[in-house]
Amino acid sequence: MSHILTISNLQSGGLITNYYCTSSCRHCLYRCSPLWPKKYINKEQTYKNLSIIKQLGCNSFHIGGGEPLLNVDGLIEVLKIAKELDVIVEYIETNSSWFNQVENACDILNELANYGVTSLLVSISPFHNEFIPFYKVRGVLNSCKKTGMPVNAWTFEFFNEIDNLDHFKPHTLDEFELHYGENYISEIPQRYWISHGGRALDTFSKINYGKALPALLAEHNCGCKELESTSHFHIDLFGNYIPGLCAGLSIMAEDIGNTIDPAKYPLITMLHTMGIRNFFRYAMDNFGFESSKAIYFSKCELCYEIRKYLVCSAGIRSHELEPVEHYTLPQNTKCH
Ligand code: SF4
Ligand code: SF4
Repeated sequence: MSHILTISNLQSGGLITNYYCTSSCRHCLYRCSPLWPKKYINKEQTYKNLSIIKQLGCNSFHIGGGEPLLNVDGLIEVLKIAKELDVIVEYIETNSSWFNQVENACDILNELANYGVTSLLVSISPFHNEFIPFYKVRGVLNSCKKTGMPVNAWTFEFFNEIDNLDHFKPHTLDEFELHYGENYISEIPQRYWISHGGRALDTFSKINYGKALPALLAEHNCGCKELESTSHFHIDLFGNYIPGLCAGLSIMAEDIGNTIDPAKYPLITMLHTMGIRNFFRYAMDNFGFESSKAIYFSKCELCYEIRKYLVCSAGIRSHELEPVEHYTLPQNTKCH
């Protein structure tokens, strides 16, 4: 009998303040986009989430989304509560879409610094550049320099390639391939770490060769221990703890810190103890799931397809498959 999933302490992770975003990046783990409801974390949930994080041994966290700076007032409330609870904000992730001019950006950065923010993680990638003209990113970098806000650019690897293109409009991935070669996109995962979940599954399963379904199921014949990892955890504005980096799976934040009750979390327990093979059989036998492809990029692609089927075709609503928009919203990745 495999051991029961237990989340007893948290190592390092982040707070998802919102899922709505200006962009619909093709690698986005949480499938954020402008189509999500414009909901931002409230004070009560921030208290709850940060208290749980702290109780479980994690005294610092980062803030991400969605784009957290789309609601500066909401963000300031989060920072105030972090200060009150004595939990350090390691950095805030941003895609720079909020930039309009340096003076305004400096005002915002100074305000964040006053509330204890010591670093910004600025996203730089071809995926982001499909939606956000580079002058905005450069504007945020300049404003950080002016205000003394330390920056971690994720990642400078792509800076020159994006900088060489017109700064005042976004560029499609096709344009990147036109400029830098036809393997440009497929080689990106070799150049920086991308979590192969969420929309990255849709993108890279179209590009990269995978495994035939029987071979995939034979290879993954045991439980998903990834669900135990707390080295890059996230808790969202709805109080969902996302186990591992398995976006779209959820454990209520108040249920972590202990063993996860198999009766309350049958799907996550099945994935953890028996893995994708049993999950696949369960969905076939109980809900008539049929795989749509002969070849899958990864077990997580199949896992997502099953979960989406359960939500969208079998009509299952479950606290384990939250937020439901992760499955139900259209995945429009067209540039604006
Ligand atoms: S990866 Fe792109 S879509 Fe996802 S939150 Fe960041 S900027 Fe938004
Ligand atoms: S198969 Fe599902 S549960 Fe297992 S690691 Fe992938 S996304 Fe997570």
